[in-house]
Amino acid sequence: MATLQLNNIVKDFGGTQVIKGVDLEVKDREFVVFVGPSGCGKSTLMRMIAGLESTTSGDISIDGERINDVGPADRGLAMVFQSYALYPHMTVEDNMGFSLRLAKVTQAERREKVLAAARILQLEELLDRKPRALSGGQRQRVAIGRAIVRNPSIFLFDEPLSNLDAALRVQMRIELARLHEELDATMIYVTHDQIEAMTMADKIVVLQGGVVEQIGSPMELYHHPRNRFVAGFIGSPK
Ligand code: ADP
Ligand code: MG
Repeated sequence: MATLQLNNIVKDFGGTQVIKGVDLEVKDREFVVFVGPSGCGKSTLMRMIAGLESTTSGDISIDGERINDVGPADRGLAMVFQSYALYPHMTVEDNMGFSLRLAKVTQAERREKVLAAARILQLEELLDRKPRALSGGQRQRVAIGRAIVRNPSIFLFDEPLSNLDAALRVQMRIELARLHEELDATMIYVTHDQIEAMTMADKIVVLQGGVVEQIGSPMELYHHPRNRFVAGFIGSPK
């Protein structure tokens, strides 16, 4: 189980407030999408959830336990970024198992976990390849595989598809939806792409200037946008 709660989260960078009091609940197994224009604070919010950035104030909890002071490796989360740099000299298998090796997991257990993830991501035939011999979509799947092997309770995706071409993005969206089903995991997904948000989300969080403008299902936001910004962003006729 993994329910995430953000309570009045604020972030200042050198006196400038970029996150201005965000409250949010992400329920167990929910697929929540953060949308909003560039610079609205999506990545900063994700990095605070991941523990890669401190909060200026406010509480972050998982299953009711405050985790502000828990290090990123101990939060039970895994993050997939836009720039999914793989180690070029390592095989797919070694790339996927690298964090487990750092965590001193035995080779046999590493192999078992990597194989299980490779099966889910349809990478079984590619485990011996180096990244340069993979397509963009395959590389992105390896990056997701690195997250899966750690068996996180919550996945954080920060614009993971923005480097892929349009056709591949559509395919990866379908694969991520399948992954969400198959892993029974809680997922938070950042995008500035309205179509991605509308097609993938159980719940959309619309951000602007470090403030949550509205939270709701795609249909709620489409039919009942709270203001012109949400309507314009979601593409509803209001
Ligand atoms: P988004 O991911 O929605 O594009 P970000 O979270 O990256 O937005 O950025 C939100 C705001 O915070 C922007 O104005 C950005 O310039 C600023 N910002 C982000 N990271 C830093 C940092 N490390 N130092 C100073 N300002 C930052
Ligand atoms: Mg960003």
